[in-house]
Amino acid sequence: MAGMTMTEQILAKHSGRERVEPGENVWVDVDVLMTHDVCGPGTIGIFHKEFGRQAKVWDGDRVVIIPDHYIFTADDKCHRNIQTLRDFVSEQGLKYYYDPDFITMNHGMPNPYRDPTKTSYKGVCHKALPEEGHVRPGEIMLGTDSHTCTAGAFGMFATGVGNTDAAFTLGTGKTWLKVPSTMKFLFHGQIPPYLTAKDLILAVIGEIGVDGATYRSMYFGGQGISSLTLEDRMTLTNMAIEAGGKNGICDVDEKTLAYVRARSNRPNWEVPVEPKDAKYFSEHEWDLSTMEPMVAKPHSPDNKDTAHNCRDVKLDRAYIGSCTGGKITDMIFAANILKGNQVKIPTYVVPGSTEVHKDMKQLNLRGQLKDANEKSIEDVLADAGCILGPSGCGACLGGPIDTFGRLNSPINCISTTNRNFPGRMGDKKAGVYLASPLTVAASALTGYVTDPRDYVSSPIETGTAGVR
Ligand code: SF4
Repeated sequence: MAGMTMTEQILAKHSGRERVEPGENVWVDVDVLMTHDVCGPGTIGIFHKEFGRQAKVWDGDRVVIIPDHYIFTADDKCHRNIQTLRDFVSEQGLKYYYDPDFITMNHGMPNPYRDPTKTSYKGVCHKALPEEGHVRPGEIMLGTDSHTCTAGAFGMFATGVGNTDAAFTLGTGKTWLKVPSTMKFLFHGQIPPYLTAKDLILAVIGEIGVDGATYRSMYFGGQGISSLTLEDRMTLTNMAIEAGGKNGICDVDEKTLAYVRARSNRPNWEVPVEPKDAKYFSEHEWDLSTMEPMVAKPHSPDNKDTAHNCRDVKLDRAYIGSCTGGKITDMIFAANILKGNQVKIPTYVVPGSTEVHKDMKQLNLRGQLKDANEKSIEDVLADAGCILGPSGCGACLGGPIDTFGRLNSPINCISTTNRNFPGRMGDKKAGVYLASPLTVAASALTGYVTDPRDYVSSPIETGTAGVR
């Protein structure tokens, strides 16, 4: 009998069974349910309708609410969503709620936090979840956001669900899942200095297509994945959904354990281990030494090409941010290319979380705490002419018309985000090129899609950034 994949092991344990097989339907106990300001109000409405106005959630310590999407806008409907979350948190006595305390109703554009260390607001949910200790190997997390799969970087089964499923879990602590079959993606060798995980996942999606992993688990393994930082692994699993994947998952190693031990709000978890004899739906392999910096051209994440082939594409804007490309290591990658140079096109920078923003102020270009004479990452980006905004989803999802960095006209933008469907970042006719933070920074310097090998030849140190 074949060994069970990590995903199968987690689903077996949470359904109280010795073994599960792909295609079986199982009821599982959920460890964490996350929602945010876009889907939270809808989920809460269904919960109240189906379970009753007086109902309590199944476990108040396992519900996490993180407003992050439509924060920095004058749109009062968005602010009303925040108030709905606040009311629910207070009604239920929930512990894990990260309030944008600077937002009040009927006051137009909120005056953003002044100091990222002095607000309970956290920024993008998928970045904040591990930071705040809600992510552990071997557990199950559901979230009302398709990129909930990001937490698979920590050896967790994490997947997005709709509001109705989330409301059911709020009331019962359970959900019903079909066990996905697993696709294995192996990367050999060490990551070269001119590549990041974004190039790897764009190559994968370009090969299998945006529906190539529909309702399957995507397991990322091999020495190439071990050589990645935890944050870069998050970029891989974050974009599993761009191939239709039910979840993405990586092995748990010392980097994972150290991070989770330092942050987790619960002490015990079991580490799933990918067996050598598991049976896969398909197996795919890459040699990192032969891979090139990639882009996904408009208007689909699977419209792959190399950055080099796109060198004649003229750009109007660059955007560095989101749960995919707004982590502190992404900022370090970009800043190392931009240091001492000036951007040629407007370049918007949005930290993924307030912790990332704090680190941008405190760390140097090598990811170490800076001394008084050194420039911070934020200084370097500002000196290069970047336009810096407050942390959150920003223009990744377009958002209300006054969203920072939103594409409000049909321009060409190169972006570290994860989706480039028409209208995703604003104007339906805008052309979005998805790329790594290295490629986006190099392109910001020329105004054309630019292969970062023109700027990077030796490894960029990230020090303790993203692992402390
Ligand atoms: S940053 Fe973008 S992809 Fe990530 S949660 Fe926000 S809108 Fe979604």
